[in-house]
Amino acid sequence: MIHNRVEEHVQEAFAALKPHFPAFCGCEICVADVLVYALNRLPARYVASREGTVITELNLDKQQSRASIDVAVMDAFRKVIASPRCKQVRPRPLTP
Ligand SMILES: [Zn+2]
Repeated sequence: MIHNRVEEHVQEAFAALKPHFPAFCGCEICVADVLVYALNRLPARYVASREGTVITELNLDKQQSRASIDVAVMDAFRKVIASPRCKQVRPRPLTP
């Protein structure tokens, strides 16, 4: 089983930072967009888990990685708030 530790930290940062962005929509589409946007901007740090237990020796370089994860998640919030995809789905006009 392969596991991306950065994903866990992005989820944590997302939960911690969400209250700071009251304009954030919070729907499923927007939540996924924030996570995907942040994850795509961060290098993945994979670890292998054995018998269901994640091996944690490969720690994130605490201060620096945490800070860059927070920055990526904050950027993602701003980007999604500026143009939420869920609001861009409009009914088609009746006439072409
Ligand atoms: Zn939304």
